[in-house]
Amino acid sequence: MKTQIDRLPRLAIALPVLCAVLVALTWITVSAKAVRERSLAEAGATQHAQALARSYAEQLQRTVSEINQITLTLKYYWENTGQRPSLEDQASHGLYPPSSRLYVVVFDRNGRTLSSTMPNPSRQSVADREYFKAHQGSAETGLFISQPYISRSFGRPVIAFSRVLRDRSGDFDGVILVAVEPTVLLSFFGQSSMSGQDLIALHRTDGALVAARTSDSAPAGNALLASAPRPQGESGVQPVNGSQFTDGAARILAWQRLADYPLVATAGLATSKIYIAAEEAARTDRRYATTLTMVLIVAGFAGALACLRAAAHAQREARIKDTYRLATDGAREGFFMVRSQTNGQGKIIDFQVEDCNERGAAFVGYARAGLMGKSFSDLYRGAALNKVMRIFRHAMDNDFHEDEFQLSAVGRDRPLWLHRRLVRSGDALAMTVRDISDVRAHAEQLARMANEDALTTLHNRHWLMQTMPQMLARAQASGGMLALLFFDLDDFKNINNTLGHAAGDQLLRMTALRLRGALRPGDHGVRLGGDEFTVILEQIGSAEQAEAITARVVEALATPFVLADGSRHAVHASIGISMYPADGEDAETLIKHADIAMYDVKASGKGQFRFYHADLSASLVQRLALEQALRDAIEGDQFVVHYQPRVDTFTGALRSMEALVRWAHPQRGMVPPLEFIPVAESMGLILTLGEQVADKVCAQLGAWQRRGLPPVPVSINVSAQQFNQGDVAAMLADCMARHRIEAALLEVELTESCMLATDRPVAEQLAAIKALGVRLLVDDFGTGYSSLSQLQQLDLDVLKVDRAFTSQLSAGAQGIAFFRAIVSMAHVLDMSVVAEGVETEEELRLLRELACDEVQGYYISRPLPPEAMEALMRGAFTQAGIHPVADGA
Ligand code: C2E
Ligand code: CA
Ligand code: CA
Repeated sequence: MKTQIDRLPRLAIALPVLCAVLVALTWITVSAKAVRERSLAEAGATQHAQALARSYAEQLQRTVSEINQITLTLKYYWENTGQRPSLEDQASHGLYPPSSRLYVVVFDRNGRTLSSTMPNPSRQSVADREYFKAHQGSAETGLFISQPYISRSFGRPVIAFSRVLRDRSGDFDGVILVAVEPTVLLSFFGQSSMSGQDLIALHRTDGALVAARTSDSAPAGNALLASAPRPQGESGVQPVNGSQFTDGAARILAWQRLADYPLVATAGLATSKIYIAAEEAARTDRRYATTLTMVLIVAGFAGALACLRAAAHAQREARIKDTYRLATDGAREGFFMVRSQTNGQGKIIDFQVEDCNERGAAFVGYARAGLMGKSFSDLYRGAALNKVMRIFRHAMDNDFHEDEFQLSAVGRDRPLWLHRRLVRSGDALAMTVRDISDVRAHAEQLARMANEDALTTLHNRHWLMQTMPQMLARAQASGGMLALLFFDLDDFKNINNTLGHAAGDQLLRMTALRLRGALRPGDHGVRLGGDEFTVILEQIGSAEQAEAITARVVEALATPFVLADGSRHAVHASIGISMYPADGEDAETLIKHADIAMYDVKASGKGQFRFYHADLSASLVQRLALEQALRDAIEGDQFVVHYQPRVDTFTGALRSMEALVRWAHPQRGMVPPLEFIPVAESMGLILTLGEQVADKVCAQLGAWQRRGLPPVPVSINVSAQQFNQGDVAAMLADCMARHRIEAALLEVELTESCMLATDRPVAEQLAAIKALGVRLLVDDFGTGYSSLSQLQQLDLDVLKVDRAFTSQLSAGAQGIAFFRAIVSMAHVLDMSVVAEGVETEEELRLLRELACDEVQGYYISRPLPPEAMEALMRGAFTQAGIHPVADGA
């Protein structure tokens, strides 16, 4: 390709040069042809001139012979007959035709005319004439031929042919003259094909010109030859250039000496004429040559232009290619052009790197120059060669191949992931290679992120759902079991809400850490979200094995956590367990069943674990239905409050009434609080429910007040959750304000657990409630672990001794002793004592003996609806004694 590009500009020069050479050759040929034709024409003309000269000489020979014959005949008669023939007479008899321009004269020894054929012969002597003198002086001259001279007889030029006459003694006796007009000697011109500037001439052998003519002028002929060379020798031919003729016309002169006379005949052909044909041909040739020249010039330039254009185009293309390579060299993509090498049968046996960019070469650890022309068999060995050949053959077969592969980290800081794309083009493959290491790394990180819980680095729900099918398939294949543990952290929500999310997060991280510690290496801890966790135990041989691991987890989480602020928190986990295949065959079912099992654990005491059982599902369904109904009840205001009186042990006077909530269920009727209060507590609904109760109580107190009934305080039961999650004091203040109720009419009953289970300083809340003017009662006293001194510190007003102790009173001395101790200690601490659940007169009698301050129970009155309570308030109780009141509920 490169060499081709280089060739183009050279071709652009070579083409015009070639054309120039052709032009030159054409012209050389043309001129050579012209020269040849000229010389041919010249040779022809030379021959022609020679032929002309010869025939001219022959004609002259005859003419001169005739003239000579006349002189010889006359001489004979004149010398030998003694007669004097009359030439005039002979002429009159037509012997010498007058038009012949030939005159015969006989002169005496003095040059006087003796006889003449001329019409008017001159009387003058010709003794001065050249020919006369020649004969006079010389011994023998034969036929004398003169140069032209002007005849005295008729005034025109003539040429004299003369012969001497002698007397008997041989002395000079006169001259016989045949005078001939030059035209007689030059008639050849007209008879031959000569014309124009052609020329004939007649010389004497001594060089003297006798006659000459061209077509134009006979007289000019003589002058014409003024400087022309004199003919030499017997015969000859010679080109003579124009400068030697007065008319300037070049000629070829040929001459021939007459056979019997001292005369030379010359024929001259005008060169201008002989070259006409040659020049015409040459002109035609030149015209053709000119046309050809023009064509060649145009072709040469056009060709050169085309070459230059093609060169420019090729150069541009090469530049683009270079630029592309430069660009791609700088880019991430490597590219290769590899050509397949086949054996005789057309089977591909190797590939050769035909081209590549630097980037591409670098991928395989080469510089581009080092890789060019290399075969795969040079670059690879053994299994690696087989593999690469398989891929490239496949690409050749399918026209396309695309894959990703990894290059080892040898010579690099990390292994390379490359994307390779092969496209077939004829018997070659174009391959692009892209470094996708970053993309891969990113994808891997994303995958990790997608499968990992960011906070705890445990697996996440996504991972679980992705991976469970495989784990289940494995368990199925091996015929083994799999356990799924499900748990959340009891009371985690409290911690998160009260201490903030940072503390919550810390707790979750610590949980994950402990969970990991409790699991076997192959087990999977998963955080599903919030405080919900699952654990997958693979390779479980028996339920006991799962139980052992679960117990470890429970134990690990039972130890209180110490947070960054130093606070300690007991966060127990209630764990539900489901087993594959017994409890479910897919992830969702297993999770659901473990969740149900966990729910069951929570309902019956926390920090435990339980296996799923089919029955659990049924109770859960009930429970869920209850929860939903409870929500609806709160929403639909289905609760009513009943009131149970608390009276003075001795006088029976109405001291207070306890507000006890009931659910007026549309189908089930009155539902007792023990069926829904714990559920509302675990659902967090107790806050709302508690508010509703407080509101109803205040509203009722307001109503009674307005109707003028004697004011009797009402005690309200408040759950631990209400203290933990809400502001009870504020809630009560709000209710009282709304219904304009004095604080003295409200009392709060709280259990010992309220004061102990919470981490929040309850003292402040209790103080706040007391500050409102509301009295505080300890409910169910005796069932918890609080000491009396603790209760005193909290400034509590009343102890309500649990019904369990009241019912023990009539059973024996121990119950009485216990009760007495409580009463006396409470009195020491300035607290009054209420006995709950007084059901008999005997109990009341004993409580009077024990100086218990107040009593409450069915013996006094069952909890009553407000209307029934009203009657009691109007004076059913008397100072005199306590009479059992019929149950109005
Ligand atoms: P509690 O606070 O100990 O309430 C006294 C319970 O004893 C009441 O049951 C009452 O009907 C019952 N009782 C009273 N005298 C006798 C008796 O002589 N013999 C027997 N066997 N029982 C007697 P009730 O109404 O079913 O309430 C049960 C529990 O529900 C209450 O125990 C209390 O803890 C809770 N509760 C009731 N109303 C509310 C409420 O508004 N808020 C909260 N947080 N808890 C409430
Ligand atoms: Ca109570
Ligand atoms: Ca109680």
